[in-house]
This record gives sequence, structure tokens and C-alpha cells, in this order.
Amino acid sequence: MKLKRLEMTLQRLAGFTRPRPSLEQYQTPAPLAARLLYHALMNGDIAGKRVCDLGSGTGVLAIGSALLGAESVVGIEIDERAVGTARANADLLEADVEFRVADANDPSLPDIVGACDTVIMNPPFGAQKAHADRPFIDLALRLAPVTYGIFNAGSTPFVETYTKGRGKITGRVGGSFPIKRTFSFHTKDVQEIDVEILLLERTT
Ligand code: SAH
Repeated sequence: MKLKRLEMTLQRLAGFTRPRPSLEQYQTPAPLAARLLYHALMNGDIAGKRVCDLGSGTGVLAIGSALLGAESVVGIEIDERAVGTARANADLLEADVEFRVADANDPSLPDIVGACDTVIMNPPFGAQKAHADRPFIDLALRLAPVTYGIFNAGSTPFVETYTKGRGKITGRVGGSFPIKRTFSFHTKDVQEIDVEILLLERTT
């Protein structure tokens, strides 16, 4: 599937119904999701691989991985309602994805999920709850040797320091995340947030 076609296909997926601000539920925009997935695909990290999507939300990244030929895809998401949306989205595109309701903070998760080859994730940026992205980084490093994550632009020094001795950033792609007016504290109709897609490799 070509990049543009993937983007158009992911555009068809339903968004969050009644998104929860405390969980930073913003659907990954299709162009950004397609960019992350294509980047990972070209690096040989999607096709034929066991892929895990952490904080899978509406399922955009997980479903895209399945469409690009992942061997298996698991989505981990704390919110049951979002998992319902993600399952309906997967059915719509006939994508084979297993969505599980689970908390990224649960230390037993790696034993339950088993190993993955590649983690993909658009974790909370920590705008509502400070350091909300940390358990995602920790879990990603435990689950897979390679992680592609979407972070706020300028997060590289933090991620580098936080993962010191465990991981190394080996790739970075810039992007933009248009956030539509969703919550009462949003003052603009659309706010463009600069983001970066980081490729994090486990070093231990
Ligand atoms: N790729 C998703 C983006 C989701 S936004 C999509 O396109 O829909 C971040 C997601 O992380 C939200 O769905 C939120 O519910 C989930 N989340 C937040 N804290 C979590 C936690 N502790 N464990 C698992 N999921 C969590």
C-alpha cells in the first residue's frame, strides 16, 4: 500500500466519542500516523513483525500496521470505550488486531502481552498529568528492541536522559499535530503542535 493510500484509508476511521482530557485522548492524525508507519515499514520494522501499539486509543496506528503486513498486532489501551471504537474501526477495514484493556503502568504487562518486535505509540504528552509519557517509555523498552514514538517537539534531550543506559535515539522525523477544538480549555479551532517521531532502540 502506498503512503498516500494508507493516509486516506486511516482518514476513514472514527475518532474518540466523548474524549477524556485527563487521558489526553487525541486521535493521531492520519498523515502523521501514516508517516510514522511508513518510516517504520521502510526500516523493516512492520511487515512480518509482531507490533504493539501502546495507548492505542481509536486504533489508528495499530490498524495501519496490520494493513502494512504486520504478522500480529496488539493494542494496549486503558479506556474501555476507546477500545470499543478501535475494534469497530478494525472491523471497518478488516484489519486483524487484538485490542486489550490494560494500564501501561501495570508492571506485569510484559508477561501478559509477551514480546513484540516493534512498539509504535503516541503516548500522552504529559500536558495534563506530568510525566504521563514515562510509563509508556518504560513499557516500550521492556516489550521491544525498537520503538517509534510521537513526542512533543524538543523532547529528545529528555528522552535521551530518561532512557540512558537502557536505550538510544537512532532516528528522528519532524511532524505536526493539528489539534481540533476538543476540550473547554482549548481556545483555538485548530492548534498546530510541533511533534517529533523518535526511533528509540534498546541497548541492553
Ligand atoms: N494512537 C491513538 C492516540 C491516542 S492518545 C489514536 O490515534 O487514537 C493517547 C492514548 O493513551 C489515549 O487513548 C489514552 O486513553 C491512552 N492512555 C492514557 N494513559 C494510559 C495508560 N496509563 N495506559 C494505557 N493507555 C493509556
